[in-house]
Amino acid sequence: MTLHCEQTSFTHLADRFGTPLYVYSKAALTEAFHAYTDAFDKLEPLVCYAVKANGNLSILKHFASLGSGFDIVSGGELVRVLAAGGDAGKTIFSGVGKSEAEIEFALNAGVLCFNVESLPELDRIQAVAGRLGKTAPVSLRINPDVDAKTHPYISTGLKSNKFGIAYADALDAYRYAAGLGRLKIVGIDCHIGSQLTDLSPLVEACERTLKLVDTLAAEGIVLEHIDLGGGVGIVYDDEEVPDLPSYAHAVAELMGGRKLKLVLEPGRSLVGNAGTLLTRVEFVKQGEEKNFVIVDAAMNDLMRPALYGAFHRIEAVESKDIAPFTADVVGPICETGDFLAKERVLACEAGDLLAVRSAGAYSSSMASNYNARNRAAEVLVDGSEVKLIRQRETIEQQLANETACL
Ligand SMILES: *Cc1c(COP(=O)(O)O)cnc(C)c1O
Repeated sequence: MTLHCEQTSFTHLADRFGTPLYVYSKAALTEAFHAYTDAFDKLEPLVCYAVKANGNLSILKHFASLGSGFDIVSGGELVRVLAAGGDAGKTIFSGVGKSEAEIEFALNAGVLCFNVESLPELDRIQAVAGRLGKTAPVSLRINPDVDAKTHPYISTGLKSNKFGIAYADALDAYRYAAGLGRLKIVGIDCHIGSQLTDLSPLVEACERTLKLVDTLAAEGIVLEHIDLGGGVGIVYDDEEVPDLPSYAHAVAELMGGRKLKLVLEPGRSLVGNAGTLLTRVEFVKQGEEKNFVIVDAAMNDLMRPALYGAFHRIEAVESKDIAPFTADVVGPICETGDFLAKERVLACEAGDLLAVRSAGAYSSSMASNYNARNRAAEVLVDGSEVKLIRQRETIEQQLANETACL
């Protein structure tokens, strides 16, 4: 048996494009997007795909064609959205450290709003808008202080995190923003973390944020939208993840009859399980205490295991009649942290292909050139059709910006 992406075999893809290779299923992207729009249909949400999960132009273009907006965290991501034909008017600019140049670029492009994370950022946006003779749409990112119960590196809604404006300071921050002449207050935002496997923190964050909406309305600050931040967690292994219809139902109940547009910023759950990292076994090494399957993909292609201790399922592309054994799956990079998986039972030998699953999100977008490795190619599969959506980087491209001077 051979593993496939839609109607295309991974063996064929590896032969044609080489490895390591990121492979995405177009149907899975579409299905993940519609899972949100279907679940939340009564609220007619604006789904703003979080570009940082995977910013490939073809993926952005596909989401734009489905009607998606975008959540960006840098000027570079805005360039990507525009290059892919995305609508700036449906794009939200998030992030704690927006530069003046980025604010100017986004304001000129006409983004839907800035999700503002601090008072100094409000001042900076006010100054840039004043200089350009424009009015800047802003929404404040409030830190609802709920524990997302996810990995500390991807938990963002606690008091101790760098993100957002403290819940207790929110009212004053809105009053301050309302006094700045170049700002138009349009919304409120919260994003408590990523890979959430429990619904209750999301619901609690929504509830606390809505409470602020009402308090603000009583002061005459009437908002147009509420943005509930990133999406739900995905299944990497055997975790239970929140059910979108239940999430949507809970949000609809809480929203009641309020005239508020709903914005969502899912990233991982739109692309994560649509992607596979295809890699070839270089060697099987029997160590003294452990076995190692050494593959041609490494932590520079998939940083999540090294960064968060994340789990990715790994399967042999061709099932073979050889004795399974337990091994760590590691890359060629000179770091002990360079592993894709630990203690897996695999039946494979040198030359075989392995499929590293759930590699659509925070994988290619986090890739680096560590050990002077070229970043891998990416392909988009649509049935039996395949498009190369990013060429494999070359060593010449890596060297192009450097000079060997004395
Ligand atoms: C990362 C991020 C997201 C996307 O989170 P996912 O868990 O990938 O859905 C959304 N909004 C903001 C502000 C983010 O930083």
